[in-house]
Amino acid sequence: MANLKGKVIIVTGAAMGLGLAAAEVLAWKGADLTLVDYNDEALNKTKEELASKFPDRKFLTVAADVSVEENVKNYVDQTVKEFGKVDGLYNNAGIEGKQASLVDYDINVFKKVIDINLLGVYYGMKYVIPELQKNGGKIVNVASVGGIRGVLNQTAYVATKHAVAGMTKNAALEYGKDNILTNAIAPGAILTPMVAEAFKQVNPDNPKAAEKEYASRNPTRRLGNPEDVAHLVAYLLSDENGYVSGQVIAIDGGESNMY
Ligand code: NAD
Repeated sequence: MANLKGKVIIVTGAAMGLGLAAAEVLAWKGADLTLVDYNDEALNKTKEELASKFPDRKFLTVAADVSVEENVKNYVDQTVKEFGKVDGLYNNAGIEGKQASLVDYDINVFKKVIDINLLGVYYGMKYVIPELQKNGGKIVNVASVGGIRGVLNQTAYVATKHAVAGMTKNAALEYGKDNILTNAIAPGAILTPMVAEAFKQVNPDNPKAAEKEYASRNPTRRLGNPEDVAHLVAYLLSDENGYVSGQVIAIDGGESNMY
C-alpha cells in the first residue's frame, strides 16, 4: 500500500478530526508530512503518536493559523526547507462557527468563519501552487455538503464552503496545464470533535440523542468515520488519480441525493 512513497504532503488542521485521520492514512501509504495546526499542544502530541507508529516516515510540525497569510507562507517555506519540495496539500483546517438563523448571525463570528474557511484555503493554494508548478501535484480542499446544499442555521459555514467549491473549480481550470489536479471533498456528518460540538449546540441536554436522530436520516443509518474520508483523500492525492480534477466529491453515505 505504498502508493504515496516519496511524496511530501502538507496537512492543515492536522491535530485532530479529519486532518489527523488523513495524516495517519497518508503516512501509512508512504508519505512524509508537514503537519499544520494552531493548536500547538495537540499538534505535538499528534506528531509523537505518528512518529512512533510510522518510524520510517518524516514529520515536520509547523504551528500556524491558516487565516494569517504570513503563517501560511511560512508553513510552505518550512516544508520546502525541510523536504526540498511539495507534492500535495490537504487544505483541511476549518471551523463551524455558531448555529444561528441568518438574520441573527453574529457578524464577528461570520467574519472569523470567512477568514479561516475561505481565506485560509485560498492562502494555502496561493503559496503551494507555485511549488507544485515545478513538478506537478495534487490539492484536496475540504468543502462540505454545506458547500453543495443549504444547512439550517449555518449561513456563514455554508457561504464559505460554497466558496471553497468555487475556488477549487478555478484552481483546476487555471493550473491543470501545470499537471496540478485540484479537487474538493464534501463530507456529510463525520464524527469528529467539531461535529460532536455541533450536536451539543443542537441538543445541549442530550447531544447523543441529536447524533442518533441525525444518523437515522442517513441512507446508511450511520455517521461517517474520519477513516472513510481519509481513504478518499489519499486516493485524490496519489498518482493513481490521473484525471479527476475540479470536482466537489460528496462523501456522505448518499444523503445529499435525498429529497
Ligand atoms: P475538528 O474541529 O475536529 O478539527 C479541526 C482542526 O483544525 C483542529 O485541530 C483545529 O485546531 C484546526 N484548526 C481550526 N482552525 C484553524 C486555523 N485557523 N488554523 C490552523 N488550524 C486550525 O474539525 P473536523 O471535523 O476534523 O473538520 C475538518 C474540516 O472538515 C473542516 O474544514 C470542516 O469544515 C470540514 N468538514 C467536517 C465535517 C464533519 O462532519 N466532521 C463535515 C464537513 C466538512
